[in-house]
Amino acid sequence: MNPANSPIEKLILILAWGLSSLIAVVVPAAFFFVSHQSLKSSLISQTELTVSAVNGIILSNPKMWRFEEVRLSELLERRAMDEVQQVVQITGLSGELIATNSIHLSPPVTEYAREIHDAGAVIGRVTVARSLRPLLQRTAIITAGSIICSALMFFFFRALPLRVVKKAFQTLRESEKKYRSLYEAMNEGMALHHIVLDDRGSIATITVVDINPSFKSMFHERLGIVGSNSFELFGETFREYVSEHLLILGMGETISFELELPGTGNFYNVQAFSPDQGLIATLLEDVTESRKSEQQIQKMAYFDTLTGLPNRALFLDRINQALALADRDEAGLAVLFIDLDRFKNINDTLGHSVGDLLLIEVAQRLGQHLRISDTLARLGGDEFVVVITKLGEQMNVTSIAQKLIDSIQTPFDIKGNELHVSASIGIALYPEDGVTAENLIKHADMAMYSSKESGRNAYSFFSPAMNQKAIMRMEKETGLRHALERGEFFIELQPIICAVTGTVAAAEALVRWQHPVHGRIPPNDFIFLAEETGLILPLGEWVLRTVCSTMKTWSDAGLPLIRFCVNVSSRQIEQQNFPEVVRSVLLETGANAAQLEIELTESCLVTNFDGSIPDIFGMRDWGVTIAIDDFGTGYSSLGYIKTLPIDHIKIDKSFVDEISTNFQDQAIVEAIIAMSQKLGIRNIAEGVETREQLEFLQKQGCGEIQGYYFHRPLSLEAFETLLREQVE
Ligand code: C2E
Ligand code: CA
Ligand code: CA
Repeated sequence: MNPANSPIEKLILILAWGLSSLIAVVVPAAFFFVSHQSLKSSLISQTELTVSAVNGIILSNPKMWRFEEVRLSELLERRAMDEVQQVVQITGLSGELIATNSIHLSPPVTEYAREIHDAGAVIGRVTVARSLRPLLQRTAIITAGSIICSALMFFFFRALPLRVVKKAFQTLRESEKKYRSLYEAMNEGMALHHIVLDDRGSIATITVVDINPSFKSMFHERLGIVGSNSFELFGETFREYVSEHLLILGMGETISFELELPGTGNFYNVQAFSPDQGLIATLLEDVTESRKSEQQIQKMAYFDTLTGLPNRALFLDRINQALALADRDEAGLAVLFIDLDRFKNINDTLGHSVGDLLLIEVAQRLGQHLRISDTLARLGGDEFVVVITKLGEQMNVTSIAQKLIDSIQTPFDIKGNELHVSASIGIALYPEDGVTAENLIKHADMAMYSSKESGRNAYSFFSPAMNQKAIMRMEKETGLRHALERGEFFIELQPIICAVTGTVAAAEALVRWQHPVHGRIPPNDFIFLAEETGLILPLGEWVLRTVCSTMKTWSDAGLPLIRFCVNVSSRQIEQQNFPEVVRSVLLETGANAAQLEIELTESCLVTNFDGSIPDIFGMRDWGVTIAIDDFGTGYSSLGYIKTLPIDHIKIDKSFVDEISTNFQDQAIVEAIIAMSQKLGIRNIAEGVETREQLEFLQKQGCGEIQGYYFHRPLSLEAFETLLREQVE
């Protein structure tokens, strides 16, 4: 900074100028004032003396004093002083001159007059006058002297402090230069950040305002670093540390942490401190080399060198972490032990290099079917383990195990050899099959052997019960795939009765599966599986077609034109062309659309609200009606009820069960019926088993009743008979 232009210099200039001007003006003015005052008092005393002398003359000669020329002149001569020239005049009443010392005064002149009294009457006046010129001359000399003095003072006042300030600035510049060169030459990267805080005291903006050459080279001389957002430049770790330790930094403390500088691939030890308010300085020391060698060591200690997967040590660590989390979240966990079948053959016949490449590819394929939260590790040889966390239903493990088996079924191409590989998997579940990592691995290993024994390329659970379930599920799943073509499904119709007339108003179609081994399987045991495998789409269409053709046959036979209600799963709704499927089935069978009712659940409605639901409701234009199944069990929000043109609400069986005894259920059912009546929606109560339940519902004005009290689901023949009876 140049002090000559600085505000300091301006201030010094103003002060020096003010001070010297004050001296130049005040000294002569004060001199003039004081001298003038003394002149004036001297004039007054001279006048007084003269007046008293004249009074003496008047006293001795009251009548003729005016003519005592000699005495008056003498008196006036005495008043005339040698060193000071003054004029003394005595004048009469009308101003006529009586006596004067007749001296000439150079202008300007100052005077003082006083009246002469005789016996109380004014008889004349004495005037004493002096020239001001000598006083003015002295004042002029003093003014000149003061001006010279003040000029000297001005120079003195200005030059001296300015020299001191300049000296200080020079020292500052020199030390700045010294530090700047240090800053520029140092190996550590240095960056200065400017921060602005928001109302809550957290960082609103943080910008790089200065960097040294070392820092610039860390970014490979990239341009535009200064002025950029520090958080974006330094990455997430920096953001976390600085934001969290803002208070500590403000107190003058230094914080240090390590980070990987985004885009550079290098690791730095960062020291951050606040050199001034609103500023943060960061000193970066490159620790890439040591970090990389540490990582290398870590990698060797925790990772399998062939596949890059975690090794046994790391797997044990991960599994222990997962066990702690599972405990906290009260969630399940599964350990899968995977062993390739007949891997030894490949090694022996094609050599170890082919075997190694195969293991690498197997590891890759297995990894593709796992979530980030799951860990796949290689224990050695052809043995892999997986820990699967956040286990919901056991169904999950079996499908993952199946996916892993399927994933390696496609032949591998290793160095031109087409290799067919399969794997056997053993599954141990936490907490059922073990509570420690070692135990779970051991039990999964044992289960894996039973897979091998049962013919390889399969999975087995450690616990016999789970194994039984898994076998059942596998059988069911494969069975389900063929059930449709083998004609193992059939439909039962459950009558829905009009609460007022007691006649059959509708029928709900309920699908059943006649399994060749396990016998009759209820829908709750296979609909979920059918939805998971996608089989629900052809199955749902089959139900719809069967219902529609039955409907057509019976209406042609003159039976009452009741509604036929078909359950539709959300998988079917999510299928883009569901209304199209319904339309073509109606056309093919020639059934009356107005006799068809589609039952949707609340959750299906809400999750597809913005998707396919408008199209589904579009079917109402053809006469198809829509019912909400299991009403009250799905969503708490009832918003959809007023927006969608719903025809029927089916009050869930769980509310009906204790309706005769439970006050709360009574209140809920009353409210549902009252609400639907107000909205013009008809209601059906499900699962009515007793007369009490029926009576309560009738009293509330419930429209239709479905339940064992009237009928269980009936075979088509039985239902037809029931309808015929109604006609007769
Ligand atoms: P849902 O739609 O709530 O069907 C009513 C269920 O309650 C039926 O069981 C029926 O037999 C049973 N039920 C009726 N009255 C009574 C009663 O008084 N007491 C008792 N304890 N139960 C009664 P089901 O046939 O086992 O069906 C179970 C579920 O399977 C159905 O529940 C429905 O969600 C689903 N489902 C059935 N058929 C199909 C279908 O064709 N497609 C789809 N997607 N789902 C179906
Ligand atoms: Ca239903
Ligand atoms: Ca229901």
